[in-house]
Amino acid sequence: CGIVGYVGRTVDGTALDVVMEGLARLEYRGYDSAGVALIDGDHVETRKKSGKLVNLRADIDAHALPPSSTGIGHTRWATHGGPTDENAHPHRGGDDGKLALIHNGIIENFHSLKRALLAEGVQFTSETDTEVVAHLVAKAYTTHGDLTEAMRAVVADLEGAFTLLAVHADQPGVVVGARRNSPLVVGLGDDANYLGSDVAAFIGYTRNALELDQDQIVTITPDGATVTNFDGTPAEGKAYEVTWDAAA
Ligand code: GLU
Repeated sequence: CGIVGYVGRTVDGTALDVVMEGLARLEYRGYDSAGVALIDGDHVETRKKSGKLVNLRADIDAHALPPSSTGIGHTRWATHGGPTDENAHPHRGGDDGKLALIHNGIIENFHSLKRALLAEGVQFTSETDTEVVAHLVAKAYTTHGDLTEAMRAVVADLEGAFTLLAVHADQPGVVVGARRNSPLVVGLGDDANYLGSDVAAFIGYTRNALELDQDQIVTITPDGATVTNFDGTPAEGKAYEVTWDAAA
């Protein structure tokens, strides 16, 4: 189970390359499925596959992904729903294809949240606890018009342990992350910024990292990273330099 996020200034193949390399570097954590999402104009493109990263790579080779500035990637260790393609992350929220979300951890109260969404007519395509959060953030986005605020509104209702990353096609150049009792670090580059379960995710690109506390939200753009607490108060990550050498 690992998480990677990337945002850069240019629309090209870099987003996919960075995310796939990050997932490969996080392989040691163990996983049963993998997937990526890239913002492509007015929607988000996703590819996800059960099994090893080579399966995902083969699927991407067969159905090319678009150039992009903004992407997220996930390796899954299934807790709710078997290790199938459908249950692999990213999960979509809403019905306009604009939001994609990935999650490591467990949402303890997803049953009651899902019941409420089903009663509203929301359709689910997986058995995961995660898809509930994807729909909730998509719904909150229609109210708030901002992905960071949408994430903040939703995490207030979640119980359990989670690292969440989300992208929304209406906000290209933005990746929003949230963490509670689950790992998430920020990588600061020159014209690009990164998120990862640990620094291995982006060690090939930058050694400047930002440590977050629990119950914090981070918003990365090509210009930097903004950290806030779940209650909305501003926070500052702790900057440090990664000194260990990554294996090639
Ligand atoms: N609970 C989520 C799922 O089963 C995330 C598992 C993980 O940490 O990879 O899909």
